Amino acid sequence: MADRITGRCKCGQVTYEGTRLDAASFRCHCRDCQQLTGTGHADMLPLSLEGFSVSDACKIFEMEGGSGQPTYSGFCPECGAQILRRSARMSDRVYVHAGSLDDPSAYAPDRSIYDGAAQPWDTGSIIDRS
Ligand SMILES: [Zn+2]
Ligand SMILES: [Zn+2]
Repeated sequence: MADRITGRCKCGQVTYEGTRLDAASFRCHCRDCQQLTGTGHADMLPLSLEGFSVSDACKIFEMEGGSGQPTYSGFCPECGAQILRRSARMSDRVYVHAGSLDDPSAYAPDRSIYDGAAQPWDTGSIIDRS
C-alpha cells in the first residue's frame, strides 16, 4: 500500500489524508462498531496522527471505550458516512474506515478482534489465521 493515504465520505464534504502507521489493521466485531456502522463489523486502517489532516466538517462523537477511557468516532454530518476512530488510550494514531479510502482495495485486515461479540449472521467475516 502506498505511504500516502487519502479518503473521503460519500458526499465529499469530509476528506482526509495521512500516512500509514506501522501497526496492525483490523476487523472489529464489537458492539460499538456494530452500532456505529449499522453492520456486523468495522474494518479499520491505522494512520499516524502526526501529519494527519481531516476536513473541519468532520463531526466528532465521543463515547466510552472498552478501557473506560474516551474514544471518538468521526463522521460526515451531511451524508452520515463513518470516517475515523480515535481513542485517548492510543494517542499516536487514528483509525480510518476501510470503506472510506479512495482506494479501498489496497486494504487488507491483519486480524479480527472481539470475535466473541460477532453476530451469528456475521461470523463468516472472522479472519482465521490458525
Ligand atoms: Zn459526506
Ligand atoms: Zn469495534
